[in-house]
Amino acid sequence: MSDKIAAITLEDIHKSFGNNEVLCGISVTAHKGEVISVLGPSGSGKSTLLRCTNLLEIPDSGTLKVSGEEVLMRKNRRGQNQPADMRQVERIRSKLAMVFQQFNLWSHMTILENIIEAPIHVLKVSRAEAVDKAKEYLQKVGIPDKLDAYPSHLSGGQQQRAAIARALAVEPEVILFDEPTSALDPELVGEVLQVMHNLAEEGRTMIVVTHEMGFAREVSSRVIFLDEGLVMEDGSPAEIFEAPKTDRFKTFIKAMV
Ligand code: ADP
Ligand code: MG
Repeated sequence: MSDKIAAITLEDIHKSFGNNEVLCGISVTAHKGEVISVLGPSGSGKSTLLRCTNLLEIPDSGTLKVSGEEVLMRKNRRGQNQPADMRQVERIRSKLAMVFQQFNLWSHMTILENIIEAPIHVLKVSRAEAVDKAKEYLQKVGIPDKLDAYPSHLSGGQQQRAAIARALAVEPEVILFDEPTSALDPELVGEVLQVMHNLAEEGRTMIVVTHEMGFAREVSSRVIFLDEGLVMEDGSPAEIFEAPKTDRFKTFIKAMV
């Protein structure tokens, strides 16, 4: 990538829950078109890092920029960080989409209704346009015939692909994935990874928390290893898998295979 444009910049992000400091100064920049796999043991703060990125959690300190725009923070009376401008938070959230381990589709809505909800109510597109786009996205994730189905009638892999179509429908600048295949039966993992691979090839910017080492090695442009609230490794898959810097990461990969 010659002209690197930052899509997301995290600078020295700290986040504690009570006395438990989960993020101890994380700095990561995701450039446009990058696919970053975030690896790390359970409890190392991977979900918290994604949640701080889309402001589902508010970092205690540090700087977050989305497409170059810095999220403005102020201190409340108890001295805690909080967003200074909720309209800015809404605007920034609308540039990001998240895909969760448990799909989080609305069970009382059809797949089509799930996908068009945010475009109609948040992006204010017409219903006809939202439906057209939804069909396109369902085609892209390989379930064009599931338009009128309810989530419970789909396999886990189909539900996750529908959730990815819903994420695409908000036309996000960055898609955040939190262990998108961890809840799936093993035989359904591949179809979801294939969709993510296709999105990567389209040049989409993605941050993917995953335990899928094959995806991390072959699809991502960069891999980050998080442990004890710090970025322990950060490099291309070749760099970090062939020449890990830390013993912790060596131990981690050994345990994965
Ligand atoms: P990971 O996704 O890497 O497994 P998490 O980010 O979910 O890790 O959690 C990191 C640590 O933060 C864990 O010790 C977890 O218990 C704690 N934690 C996460 N969210 C909360 C919360 N809302 N309240 C209190 N503790 C939390
Ligand atoms: Mg997690």
